[in-house]
Order: sequence, then structure tokens, then C-alpha cells
Amino acid sequence: SKRIAVLTSGGDAPGMNAAIRAVTLSALSHQHQVFGFLSGYNGLINEHFTELNAASVTDIIHRGGTILKSARCPQMHHTDGLLQAANSLRKCHIDALVVIGGDGSFKGAQALAEHWSGQIIGIPGTIDNDINGSDETIGFHTAIDTALGCIDKIRDTAQAFERTFVVEVMGRDCGIIAMEAGLASGAEQIICKELIDDEPQFLQKLYEQVKANINNDAGHSYVLVMAEHSLSISAEQLAAQLTEHSGVESRSAILGYVQRGGAPVAGDRILATQLGCSAIEHLNAGADGVMVGVVNNQLKTLAFEHTSDTQQRNRDFVARLKRFRR
Ligand code: ATP
Repeated sequence: SKRIAVLTSGGDAPGMNAAIRAVTLSALSHQHQVFGFLSGYNGLINEHFTELNAASVTDIIHRGGTILKSARCPQMHHTDGLLQAANSLRKCHIDALVVIGGDGSFKGAQALAEHWSGQIIGIPGTIDNDINGSDETIGFHTAIDTALGCIDKIRDTAQAFERTFVVEVMGRDCGIIAMEAGLASGAEQIICKELIDDEPQFLQKLYEQVKANINNDAGHSYVLVMAEHSLSISAEQLAAQLTEHSGVESRSAILGYVQRGGAPVAGDRILATQLGCSAIEHLNAGADGVMVGVVNNQLKTLAFEHTSDTQQRNRDFVARLKRFRR
């Protein structure tokens, strides 16, 4: 039997609670003890934790956010912070740590491993779906549905007013949310880094397309779904440029934090449950320094050091979906 610590770190994502539940119930069924550390790595540094039992994780599979709270923790970038975190783990006699978060959180786990000899295992929890080693991340399915619901509503106004709308979605540096939400909403344009080789050229073509769309007397709306950070100009600036170059009033809408919240959809609950249980199985087998993920419908592990090798993965993902755009 082991003493297992679990924490959620980085941006919160719908389904993190389902993952905490799966980790806890699976660990308890193997006679382990489980301790939830609060507010990401801050909980380690401040020794802020609570023991989790079956009752603690009842009634949470359907809730957004995370009962363990999440946070960024700047101290983890400094040796002092890492030593403090490692000391807390030793003091609490923790044998293994489960980190639910994004690739930044896994970098934190790697840094921590230099000062602590216990096992560490990662579970990909982020809406961005930007982690190598898993085809999908916990929270992504819900974020797409949330973004889609918003884009559908914006389309109504775009249509009624015959306006052009630039809708900015999240994704950090990854265009997969934009690509999927754009595809599912029938967006006229999808803008993400993976699709742009030369920005000025891309924008010139875009202005021409928007103008041509207006002049073809179909009189319909034009919706552009844009990934955050994909251009050197903001969504608002792009809308202003479109107004100027196409002569049609354009507006922007930044969806923002709504995409991180809400009850997780089935896909995220199921993924979280599989990955949570898989993490405990791998810990039982002695795994250390790896993230669990689903690749081609199979449960796999990947060393933390490779989880941020995302450039090719993201480009392939976007390229595959791009083929299905009209
Ligand atoms: P998301 O992308 O969904 O927001 P994330 O896990 O990538 O999730 P980050 O803010 O990048 O989010 O990282 C979360 C935390 O992990 C940081 O606040 C920090 O405590 C730790 N961390 C990130 N990078 C490092 C690093 N290079 N060294 C040590 N710790 C790190």
C-alpha cells in the first residue's frame, strides 16, 4: 500500500474532478491512501492538503472546475520552491504523486523529480488539447461544445445583421480548438498558426475573400473562428481591418473563460475516468516520470520530457481536419 498525493495544476478544465474521483477510487481499491494537495504546486509548498476518501469524491464527476483548486505557482521555477515541495512530500511520507494538468505542470513535475525520489505520474488535463502523448486531453471535449454553442449564437446576429464576426477561441499556441469549433460551426474561415505561413499574404487573401463573399449577393453572414495568439493583431484589430477592407461592418467577440468552465460532457468524464484508473495501474507497476494518455484508442504512457514536443503533432492534427473544409 502506498501514500499517494494528487493535485490539479495550470488552467482548470472540465473533467478534472472526474479524474480526481477516478484516481481516488482506484487507489482506495488497491488499499492505497490518497491525499489531495490544494491549489496546484502551492499545496505542496504550503503543506496544504486533505485526505481523500470515497465520500470526498462522491457527487463530483459532473462538476466543472476542480475540488482541489488549481493555480500557477511561480516558486516552482526556483530551487528553493522545489526543495520546499520535495521536503513536504518527504514529511508527509508520500510515495507517489499524481499531477493533473498541462505540459507546464509536467515541466514542474520533471523539475521536482530532481529533488524527490518518489514516483510521479501525469494526467493530461487542459482544454487546449496541446499535449504530445495523448490524442485528447481532459476538458477539450467540453470546451469545443461550449465554444460551439457560443459561435452558433453569434451566427444568429451575424446573419440577421449581415455582419462579419471574428470569434476568438482559446488554445494557447495550439489551433485545435479553433479548428474543431470552426469545422463544427460551419465557419467561413478558421484562423490558426498551423494554417498560416505568411501573415501579410494570408490577411490580404482573407480581405479579398470577405469582400467577394459580400459581393456575391448571397447576403449571408461571415464567421471567422480565430485561435488566440494566431496573428500579430488582435481579434478586435482584425475586425477593424475587415471593416476597412471589405466595407462590411465587422465585429469581434472573445469567448474567453467561458470555455474553461461548465459541466464536463460525456467524452471528458469517460477520458478522465480511464486515465485516472490507468495512472494508478501504472503506479502499481512502478511507473515514474511519465504521463498517461490515449493514442489511437489505446492507453499509453509517454515520458514527461516528450509531452511538450507538440509542433508536428498539432500541425498534423490541423492538417487532417483542414482536408474536410469546403
Ligand atoms: P494550461 O496550459 O492548461 O494552463 P499548464 O500546466 O501548461 O496548463 P502552466 O501555467 O504552464 O500551465 O504551468 C503550471 C505550473 O507548473 C506553473 O505555475 C509552475 O508552478 C509549474 N511549471 C511550469 N513550467 C515549469 C518549469 N519549467 N519548471 C518548474 N515548474 C514549472
